[in-house]
Amino acid sequence: MKSTAGNTGGIQKKKMNGYVGFSNYPNQVHRRSVKRGFNFTLMVVGESGIGKSTLINTLFDSKIFPDREEMPPSAEPAKGVDVTSMSADIQENGVKLRLTVVDTPGFGDSINNEDAWQPILENIESRFDAYLAQENRVNRSKISDNRIDAVIYFIKPTGHCLRVIDIEFMKRLHTKVNLIPIIAKADTLTASELELFKAKILADINYHGIQIFKPVSDEFDDPETVADNREILSKIPFAVIGSEKHVERPDGTPVRGRRYPWGIIEVENEEHNDFIKLRQMLLRSHMEELKDTTDMVLYENYRTQKLLSMGHVQDNNVFREFNPLVQMEEEKRAHDGKMQKMETEMSGVFQQKVNEKEAKLKQSEEELYARHKEMKSVLEKQRSELEEKKKRAEVSARPVTPMEQQHTTKGKKKNIFSGF
Ligand code: GDP
Repeated sequence: MKSTAGNTGGIQKKKMNGYVGFSNYPNQVHRRSVKRGFNFTLMVVGESGIGKSTLINTLFDSKIFPDREEMPPSAEPAKGVDVTSMSADIQENGVKLRLTVVDTPGFGDSINNEDAWQPILENIESRFDAYLAQENRVNRSKISDNRIDAVIYFIKPTGHCLRVIDIEFMKRLHTKVNLIPIIAKADTLTASELELFKAKILADINYHGIQIFKPVSDEFDDPETVADNREILSKIPFAVIGSEKHVERPDGTPVRGRRYPWGIIEVENEEHNDFIKLRQMLLRSHMEELKDTTDMVLYENYRTQKLLSMGHVQDNNVFREFNPLVQMEEEKRAHDGKMQKMETEMSGVFQQKVNEKEAKLKQSEEELYARHKEMKSVLEKQRSELEEKKKRAEVSARPVTPMEQQHTTKGKKKNIFSGF
């Protein structure tokens, strides 16, 4: 591997010379995800008859919502908002999806809709609470996630500005859920009416500081994705039509759509409505982002607020903000301290070894000196013995003088005689 010039924050960019294989990682993630399947929880909010069940069935091209009997309008006023959910396992190209659709029958159906948002908000929060309770368990291996990933909010195709109920709902919920406002039954408005209506809705949303879900591009997105996101963004709020029925085009091709005396309106025709863009964002390009936003932004905020309100205080010594420069400085200081300690320890050990060696040398020097002294005295002794011997030998080897002879003989005689 060769190093390239770029060096960002201490991490070097390296150029590889060959294929090693980690680029296959996305495929591994894909395989694992396909095996496990996905969960997606979608809430639909809008008054009865606005087209919620038809749109969901059209989106997933299956009967998620069962057929409703055409009910005669009830004489009794609606009893309030209910929250019901239904799940379905659907599969496409081997990929399994556990889809849960949460319906909110009764929303906007009462005479007084002031608090219509309340049971829905409570339901969304209770799902967060359930998740939080599971997260706080000792064993977290099997957490079931029922949090709402997105809410499709159906705006009545009035052509005027947003109603109080719409604004109130969105204001109360925009920090708790990914909001996707759509104009329902878009076929009931003309193209120019729709254009104007969209502008009014966006102005109201901006005015009230409501956050809605929008696809955002970042530096890592390829140009194609950036262009797709821009296209999707330009259609928000999506004006859609729903239809599970097929109608025939003039050329005889069957398509999902609605028939009018003046012609047909097709569900999957971008010139007729924004159904394709809604489906693209919701299911094809941004499902994961919706789930991520729910988990990392909306739920995380809720969790923080909840724990703080319960008296939990964050220990900022543990969770202090990460500053790489301070961190590096601290690491350097710790490293220097460690090196200094090692140096002191090493010089202590070194000094001890030197002392030991010196003591040993001194001891062996003394031993050598003692041996030398001993050997010297032995040699001295041997020398004086030898000298003594030599002297004696010299004396015995010298010729005897007549005087000595006489003396000796006398002596001998004497000795001889002395023997008697
Ligand atoms: P829900 O009560 O909100 O679930 O509404 P439904 O999906 O049951 O739809 C109520 C009625 O509106 C049905 O007769 C649908 O055929 C009709 N409908 C649904 N979507 C559209 C649409 O996009 N355009 C028109 N014109 N009618 C629609």
